Amino acid sequence: AAGHELAPTTGATLVVGGTGYIGRFVAEAGLALGHALYVLVRTFGPFVSPSRAATAAALREKGAIILEGSVDDKDFMEKTLRENNIHVVISAVGGESILDQLCLLDAIQAAGTVKRFLPSEFGHDIDKANPVEPALSLYNRKRRVRRAVEAAGVPYTYICCNSIAGWPYHDNKHPSKAAPPLDRFVIYGDGSVRAFFVAGSDIGKFTMRSAFDSRTVNRAVHFRPTCNCVSLNEMASLWERKIGRTLPRVRFTEEDLLAIAKENEIPASVVAALTHDIFILGCQSNYSVDGVKDVEVSCLYPDMAFRTLDDCFSDYISSLLPHQARETRPSAAAATVDQPAVPPATA
Ligand code: NDP
Repeated sequence: AAGHELAPTTGATLVVGGTGYIGRFVAEAGLALGHALYVLVRTFGPFVSPSRAATAAALREKGAIILEGSVDDKDFMEKTLRENNIHVVISAVGGESILDQLCLLDAIQAAGTVKRFLPSEFGHDIDKANPVEPALSLYNRKRRVRRAVEAAGVPYTYICCNSIAGWPYHDNKHPSKAAPPLDRFVIYGDGSVRAFFVAGSDIGKFTMRSAFDSRTVNRAVHFRPTCNCVSLNEMASLWERKIGRTLPRVRFTEEDLLAIAKENEIPASVVAALTHDIFILGCQSNYSVDGVKDVEVSCLYPDMAFRTLDDCFSDYISSLLPHQARETRPSAAAATVDQPAVPPATA
């Protein structure tokens, strides 16, 4: 595979949103590869936050060069790209900032140094999936950025990494930050629809590989590790084996998820709409990657393993206090599956 990758470039990589949830994994992976890595952070106005500052400091400690600014400042971005000879731009801005990338794209065109742009995607293939609102509006913004990038003729790669490994709470947009449940599982639909789960470190690792790979120019890269293609029922059983006890399962129906989506609370309704698309409609597993514009990570890097969900769940066990993981023996209640459905938040 190495022969297909770009020759070592003298240019640097810029990660936008490197202090965010997904962006940090990408920045850390770039630093691990020894890349000259710049990270753009907003350190002014309403954007100052102690946790973001701590993340920026941790990245700087590992060798990142921190730049202060915003992607919606075109002149600043153009100057930054040119002066630092940036060849690869990876954006991981959050849902509310997707259209700021149109300004970044203008700057990329004007600077003329960038050989690859990865706009903020990091989810499903937005040209294939069609979630209900308000997720559809997010997809429409991402689609607008895709079309602008293609029209501009800037070489691009779209990262379709599917779900980050963790229990998919329908009300948490950063699910891998929370351990799987210790009280009960909420199972969407009948729990049999499969999805792909990818460790955050693998999202970072394969994003970085893809950004420097000549085979991924103007293509979508799909993360579909067969070892982590599991249903919620299978995931629940895996977690039960880890904690050594069974938990009750409560059913969340399609209607329950749609009711939360309909409330149009951002980001909760976006997460519920995507949960519906994944676990009711099967948007991650109901298509095959066979277009000329699509490529799978496991085809690109057959020798590089994904972290298994089993390993990721072991990490959670290590992070839990011993009494949290094994505090109760299997109980009569815990052995009873198919509890009555939890009423939706609107009920
Ligand atoms: P976060 O909100 O956690 O982080 C966004 C980052 O972008 C922050 O560092 C933020 O900095 C920065 N940023 C936002 N606007 C600007 C700007 N104008 N200029 C410079 N920096 C900016 O985002 P997420 O990690 O949640 O989302 C990133 C992408 O990943 C999105 O496309 C999202 O849809 C996707 N995603 C995928 C998931 C999955 O499971 N596959 C899960 C979650 C997200 P600041 O502190 O200044 O705001």
